[in-house]
Order: sequence, then structure tokens, then C-alpha cells
Amino acid sequence: MPADQPTVLVVEDEAAQREVLRYNLEAEGFRVAAAGNGEEALVMMDEEAPDVVVLDWMLPNLSGIEVCRQIKTRPGTRGVPVIMLSARSEEVDRVRGLETGADDYVVKPYSLRELMARVRAQLRRARPAAAGLRLEYEDIILDAETHRVTRDGQELKLGPTEFRLLSTFMEKPGRVWSREQLLDRVWGRDIYVDTRTVDVHIGRLRKALGVHGGGDPLRTVRGAGYALG
Ligand code: CA
Repeated sequence: MPADQPTVLVVEDEAAQREVLRYNLEAEGFRVAAAGNGEEALVMMDEEAPDVVVLDWMLPNLSGIEVCRQIKTRPGTRGVPVIMLSARSEEVDRVRGLETGADDYVVKPYSLRELMARVRAQLRRARPAAAGLRLEYEDIILDAETHRVTRDGQELKLGPTEFRLLSTFMEKPGRVWSREQLLDRVWGRDIYVDTRTVDVHIGRLRKALGVHGGGDPLRTVRGAGYALG
């Protein structure tokens, strides 16, 4: 399973509803992590690094609103889109009023097709490469659907790891990625790889990007990691 397969975290205390969501999201090609309460959800935000969160309002103990507020105030998770599920439209109005930072709201009973469309929409915004879109940075074009990369119109040959590295950089130009963050995103969290491996693949990516000429678009940030531009 590729490490860049998008992950959706489902937070729902009712097991039957949780499983329906899991089944449908997996059928859409997502990796699914599921939590039955808010405390577990917050732990999973760190452990599973989801790309999108589907969060039920009615949870025991820590409410969906409080979970959302915590996700949106922590520096490591605040950029992750949250879709809030709620039983009544009045609750949705309250969520909006409370400014929890939720990115979207869906009222129960919802149509699964509509919910899946909303998950995909949030993913396109947060992880364009994982959603199969075309990314551009200066003269570099990466097509995530066909896995083709061109620079100044000429095709580049990249290995699968270099391709995932480049798509990670191109999703957020200017962002500095630490070696550990690149390992999590590109190699996956369950695999043990030495951080020096990152440097080796960055070297290969630089070489591949410069094969037809052009400057080195990757920047080494001393003591921090790497960035595009
Ligand atoms: Ca519930």
C-alpha cells in the first residue's frame, strides 16, 4: 500500500455507523483510522496523521466540538480539514456560531454519496497530489494521476520514492520539511528507515530534476530539512 494513500480519521461512538463509514471510505480508496471517542481521536491525530477528519458532534465525555477545537488549536494538526456530522441542523448552526474551525458540516441522516463528495473536496484542498491532481511549480509539472513529471516540457524519469518526495514538496512550496516528516509522509510511519536515506533520495531527486538543465529548485535548510523554493 503506498504511503501517500490518503487517510481519513472517523470519529463516531456508534459502532454500526462507524463501520458503515469505514466500509464506504475504504471503497473510495482511502485508508481509514477509526476512533470511538474524542480522547482516542486526539491520540490518533498524532499517531495516524490523517489527511481529513470526519467527526461526530455527539460523543461521550469530550464532545465533537471540543475535539474540533483542540485539533484546530494544535500547531501540528490545525491544517487538517474537519467535517463535522450532526443530528440536527440547529446543532450545525451552533457549531458555526461557536467558531470551532470545522471546515464543513453535514446533517444526519446524510447521503453517503454526498459525504464522500465532501471528503474528496476537502482532500483536494489539503492534499492535491493524493487526490490525483496536476501540480505546477515554476517550470515543473507533476501529474499525480498519470505519474508523469515534466520540466520545461521535457519528461523526467523519477523513481517511486523520488516521485512521492516531489509531490510532497509541490503540495506546499516553501514549506520546510524535516527529515522525520518526510519519512512519515513518503515512506510511511510503520517502516523503519534511517534519516540519511532521505538525503540519498533528495540527492537522486535533485539529479533527476536537473537532467535537462535548469537550476536546483530544492533548498537545504541547515539544521531543519528541505524545502521547494
Ligand atoms: Ca454519536
